[in-house]
Amino acid sequence: MLRRVLALLAGAVLVLGGLGSPGTAEAGPTAAGPAGRAAAPAEVVRHVTYEGRTLTVRMRPVRTRAPGFEVLVQQGDGDLVPTAAPAARSYLGSVDGLRGALAAGIVRSDGKVEGIIVFDRGGTWQFVDDTVTGTRGLEQPDSFHWPTADDADRNVTVTRGQVGTTTYRWDVAYDLANRWFTHPDTIGGSVARALDAVELNTVILLAAYEVDARLRPATGRVVIRGLASAEPYGGYTDLLGKVKTEWETNQSDAGADAVALWQGSDSGGGVAYVNVIGSAWSVSSNGGTGTPWVVTRHEIGHNWGASDNHTNGPEGATIESGNAYHRFDGTELSAIIRLRDDRLGWEVPPFPAVRTLREPVPPYAALDLLRRSTAGVARHFRPTKNDHDANGGLLSLKSVRGRSHLGGRLTRDGNVVTYLPPDVTETSVDWVRYVVRDPSGRTATGVILFRVVP
Ligand SMILES: [Zn+2]
Repeated sequence: MLRRVLALLAGAVLVLGGLGSPGTAEAGPTAAGPAGRAAAPAEVVRHVTYEGRTLTVRMRPVRTRAPGFEVLVQQGDGDLVPTAAPAARSYLGSVDGLRGALAAGIVRSDGKVEGIIVFDRGGTWQFVDDTVTGTRGLEQPDSFHWPTADDADRNVTVTRGQVGTTTYRWDVAYDLANRWFTHPDTIGGSVARALDAVELNTVILLAAYEVDARLRPATGRVVIRGLASAEPYGGYTDLLGKVKTEWETNQSDAGADAVALWQGSDSGGGVAYVNVIGSAWSVSSNGGTGTPWVVTRHEIGHNWGASDNHTNGPEGATIESGNAYHRFDGTELSAIIRLRDDRLGWEVPPFPAVRTLREPVPPYAALDLLRRSTAGVARHFRPTKNDHDANGGLLSLKSVRGRSHLGGRLTRDGNVVTYLPPDVTETSVDWVRYVVRDPSGRTATGVILFRVVP
């Protein structure tokens, strides 16, 4: 997937990748088949194998549908006709023996379980039943660096209490363009398979946005463009402008906080407006076929106020900074939470408070930036104080490395760490990893950056 910024339009649009050639399919939608209303199982278990390693995934139901959830299939005359959806079948859970991992997925319309395992620090396996179909971000960076955005306001991490104790819901609508919907390799014009992709995407979003930021995505209106001649995306140019116009004019009653257009270009690039969540401008255009969750998590991150290479990847290729890991870095997350707070200050805030997530997930270890340490002078601090947990649990320090990257010494007493910086001859950036633990014993690895002066 192309990550290079190709254009910057009107200061608000970021363009990634090409749009590919327009599709020419004119086939109508195939029958969705009987929409099964049978209750989804209370637990799903799968034994997922990749390169000789087998992991047992256990997931339980999680709600990912907004009150406004509905499926509209566009007919040849342009009418959007409500269509039945299967019973809710989204899941969230754990991986046996891996306290830093979580799993998210769905029971698909064909009965198979598709999902992702998210490892500590954001590497992923994507799986269908027992088979891994793709991996991403399994290697961690060799080093970490101080945030370096030109805009100094970005070079800050999450502060103590900033995420807070409330979980908020935001509703994401999907506009499934005809080129995506009719792509033969993946969806093939099946309404049932299109809904599988949508609901898989939403629960994957949850595994980053709620786990990292206590922002729960929920699927709102889903529009399926059954006939190319009746969709507003003919020619497949200026798709971002077209999806904005469509949702401002014809879909404004959906109440969506963000809209993801899946436009089905062969390249996986996308485009989004930045800093717009909760408004009519909060749209993104996402290429790729199948379930384009990798590009969608990134483009929606722009809606949420994080920019491309927000602070040049202090924690590696997080969602807005290379998009390898299913995780935001501390500076991306700081921007997202500040935009959340701006929206909560609106006269009619767009995000309702919802019940705290009950299915246990690992905590989020936020980047620590210690701006000034003096060589040879011990300092005390609590690396977990700006960390948080989507389950609302109290966090504690599990461990910290005894030796930093540049050879500083670290000791701990409870949650307090003492750092004895190394001797340096010029201002230097040092770093060390630590592990935070929640009441369920789940863990997350965090990074502490120190700026050390002689
Ligand atoms: Zn981007």
